[in-house]
Amino acid sequence: MSKLPVIVLGAGAAGLAAAHELNRNGRAVSLVEAAPRVGGLCRTLEHRGYRFDLGGHRWFTKNADLDAWFHRLLGPELVPVDRISRVHFEGRYFQYPIEVGDLLRKLGPRIMLDAGLRCVYAGLVQALAAEPPKNMRQAYVAQFGSRLYEMFFRRYSEKVWGRPCEQLSADWVSQRSKGLSLWTLLKDALRLQREPVTSLIDRFYYPATGYARLPERMAEDIVARGGELRLSTRVRSVRWHGPEDLEVVCERDGQTEVLRGSAVLSTVPLGALVGMLDPACPAPVVEAARGLVFRDLITVNLILKRPQVSTDTWVYVQDESVIFGRLHEPKNWSPAMVPDAGTTSLVLECFCSRGDAIWTLDDAALRERCVRDLVERLHLIEAGDVIDAVIVRTTHAYPVYDLGYAERIATIRAHLDTLPGLHILGRSGTFRYNNADHSVEMGLLLAQRLLGARLDHLAVNTEPSYQEIVRPGEEPGRDRFQLGQSAARP
Ligand SMILES: Cc1cc2nc3c(=O)[nH]c(=O)nc-3n(C[C@H](O)[C@H](O)[C@H](O)COP(=O)(O)OP(=O)(O)OC[C@H]3O[C@@H](n4cnc5c(N)ncnc54)[C@H](O)[C@@H]3O)c2cc1C
Repeated sequence: MSKLPVIVLGAGAAGLAAAHELNRNGRAVSLVEAAPRVGGLCRTLEHRGYRFDLGGHRWFTKNADLDAWFHRLLGPELVPVDRISRVHFEGRYFQYPIEVGDLLRKLGPRIMLDAGLRCVYAGLVQALAAEPPKNMRQAYVAQFGSRLYEMFFRRYSEKVWGRPCEQLSADWVSQRSKGLSLWTLLKDALRLQREPVTSLIDRFYYPATGYARLPERMAEDIVARGGELRLSTRVRSVRWHGPEDLEVVCERDGQTEVLRGSAVLSTVPLGALVGMLDPACPAPVVEAARGLVFRDLITVNLILKRPQVSTDTWVYVQDESVIFGRLHEPKNWSPAMVPDAGTTSLVLECFCSRGDAIWTLDDAALRERCVRDLVERLHLIEAGDVIDAVIVRTTHAYPVYDLGYAERIATIRAHLDTLPGLHILGRSGTFRYNNADHSVEMGLLLAQRLLGARLDHLAVNTEPSYQEIVRPGEEPGRDRFQLGQSAARP
């Protein structure tokens, strides 16, 4: 086995998990991270003692072994959080995930009957259709009918993705809500399921001082075991000389450094990796990489002189004219997220694309607009409550599943398969809509693969079923990560 280290590009959840597992099994690792901190999207910003995630991050997984790994890593730092989420739609709040009883109470029997009939119709149309749904609209309508789609899914989806649902792939819906429909919700409400579905959404665990503790804990272990962590160091190119002979050219403070490794694990955005490869990728691969689009994010973090805004864990805002799409109150996740119990804070997520009308607003205008919408549209605060605001801009927040993305990924992957020793993983790294648990799991599985196990880390987050429920008879240990698996294991 080569004595050269495994070089990991990016110290987010995926890269750190891979390095953590390799390093735990005695392999030399070197992590290269462009930011001055670890964590990537699992970031917790601190300002005047207030702590803000980049949008609230909740840990959940169907994989019991992975869950045990998480609890072992963070143990006493975790606090349980009861999830209460609501959707704000046309001036009213509805429970989310949607509940039939709540809809009946708030919409009345006439609208619900109409929603039900539209759902039956959509179900029949889909049953007779020759093909499964192709776009996001078709997928949602097939499951919930056109009325509920319009109320609960269209506007929010279009806010997140910045384009009509007809231009987005059905894949995202399959992963997030296949198996859920008005009928399963109705059967659940009437307790007609032979066995109830086990929901993973009502309660979750959260690190008391913010989600960044997940990557920070991994980094602490890696450094303590002698692993190398280069922060503020940007990867410029990756040279592939042969299966166990790769070089990474990186830059820190204007200085160039070349690292040699036996393998390179990349979590940098897939399109960017294609542009960094030496030898250069063939033209069709470069073209495919250019077509991969990410959605960006601005989080507006407010400090408020009132003890609480609401009891919600999340509020989803459908209305297109409200600038943010989702908000959360960190104190409701953990009291340690604020330094003073008499005050609170909010994180507002504004979905956008670099250069668009939201991205180009300056900080003062963003703050003013967010506060106005909170006061006048959501009626959650008064303008005088706001003490301070911090605004964070994040690129590559969401991989956009447009109608051609799967083909582009296939073209890129076919080329990368010809470069043994170079592996992709993570959310931007594979252009897959991963949650943090998926990215961690990919990292752990890839590490075990390099240690000799026969595993496919790229199978993570491909199962076409609703991620938040375990159905009767379904195997909860969905993927194959098992604690204690080692190189000796085939
Ligand atoms: C608003 C929001 C809310 C979310 N909520 C949840 C949630 O509730 N639960 C959940 O499980 N997940 C949630 N997620 C998803 C979760 O954040 C991601 O799945 C996870 O953090 C991805 O980790 P990663 O390591 O795959 O990628 P990243 O976090 O993107 O890490 C990639 C790293 O590579 C580095 N990098 C990039 N280019 C270079 C370069 N050239 N050189 C060196 N380094 C480079 C980046 O700086 C970054 O640190 C949410 C995401 C967002 C945006």
